[in-house]
This record gives sequence, C-alpha cells and structure tokens, in this order.
Amino acid sequence: MATKAEILDFIKIFGDKMAEHRQELTDLDQVIGDGDHGINMNRGFNAVGEKLPTLADKSITEILKTVGMTLVSTVGGAAGPLYGTAFMRAGESAKSKEALSDQDVILAFDEGVGGIKFRGKAVQGEKTILDSMIPAIDAIKKSIREGKPMTVALDEAEKAAWEGVAYTKTIIATKGRASYLGERSIGHQDPGATSMAYLFQAAKEAAQKSGK
Ligand code: ADP
Ligand code: MG
Repeated sequence: MATKAEILDFIKIFGDKMAEHRQELTDLDQVIGDGDHGINMNRGFNAVGEKLPTLADKSITEILKTVGMTLVSTVGGAAGPLYGTAFMRAGESAKSKEALSDQDVILAFDEGVGGIKFRGKAVQGEKTILDSMIPAIDAIKKSIREGKPMTVALDEAEKAAWEGVAYTKTIIATKGRASYLGERSIGHQDPGATSMAYLFQAAKEAAQKSGK
C-alpha cells in the first residue's frame, strides 16, 4: 500500500536527488545533447518543491497531477513534458483512491510509461527514458507476482533501471537531440534514462522509510 504521505515523501526525495545529481545529469547531456538535462529536472522539481506544502491536504490524484502540470509548465526541453505527462497520467490512474494497493502502483507506473511513449513516440531501445523505465516496471510486476513486498519489488526495479542505463551506452540514439549524433552516440550514457533510474531509487527509499 502506498499512502499519500509516502507519495509526498517520494516526490520530495526525487526532487532532492535531482538537485544532488544536477551536474552529473547535465554533464551526461553535454556529451550527447545540449547540456541541460540536470538543469531542467532541477528547475522543474524546485517548482514542485515550492508547491508541495500546499498539496498535503489534496488527494493522491491531485498531488500527482499538480506535479505533472508543474513540470510541463516550468521545464523547457523534452524531459519536462515527458516526465510531466507521466505524472499526470499516473495521477489520473489513482482516481479518488485514498491509498494505492500494489496493483494500483503498477497501474500508475504503466499509465506513466504509456504517457511517455505517447508523448515521445518512442519505443524501448532508442536510448531514452524508456530504457530504464520499462525494465524497472517489468521488475516490479515480476516481484509482486512472486509475492514479494513492494520494498523488495522497488529494490529490484532500481537494479533493473541501472542495468537499463548501462544498456543505453551500447545503443544508437534514434529519438531526441542525441539522435543527431547517430552512431557517435554509442558509448555514451543517456541522461534521461539516468534521471529515471534515480526516480526508482527515490521510490525505493520512500518505501523503505515507511518500513514496508
Ligand atoms: P532536451 O533534449 O530537449 O534538451 P533534456 O536534456 O531535458 O531535453 O532531456 C533529454 C532526455 O530526454 C534524453 O536523454 C532522453 O532520455 C529523453 N528523450 C528525448 N526524446 C525522447 C523521446 N522522444 N521519448 C522519450 N525520451 C526522450
Ligand atoms: Mg538537453
């Protein structure tokens, strides 16, 4: 079960990670993009952080939708609308629920990744956010199917996400700015896949803190 408090904590932790890893993400984007991914994510989550105190008494749906809309409206570049759409779709999937069951969490991630695929017109293997997100969600589903608790599922999701990040080094970018480099994008790690791995790290830490 993911409660509203856990979801707020997850957003806060992810925002902190975007501040902490701002330079790293920007450096990765410097190599195959335009050097702003860390700046973009940090700007978006600073704006989200300013809104968080006003969200405590809102529903999970409203919280996630507000995060998404804030990212879309404050982040320039591809990642803002992509992450923003994911949070908005995840929020819609939560409907009026007070807390999310494990299946609800899976649904929220599925809706989120669906939003990114829709918005970015990308599939797995194009050196994008999806290359860490899809394996991570698959790992959650597998763990939950095997009867493991969500903390374990999210730990396995994070591991799968980092494997996906490593995989992005081996492939050619065919979406986003990095696609301009063609074969020269091989050997370099995708910044968006990397920020998404931190999202699963944040989700894992939020779940572990609540002790489930
Ligand atoms: P921009 O590329 O506009 O400068 P960012 O630097 O913030 O935006 O984000 C770049 C990241 O966005 C890439 O590393 C990649 O993971 C992701 N990305 C770019 N285009 C797409 C797409 N069409 N679908 C999914 N992810 C994408
Ligand atoms: Mg960029």
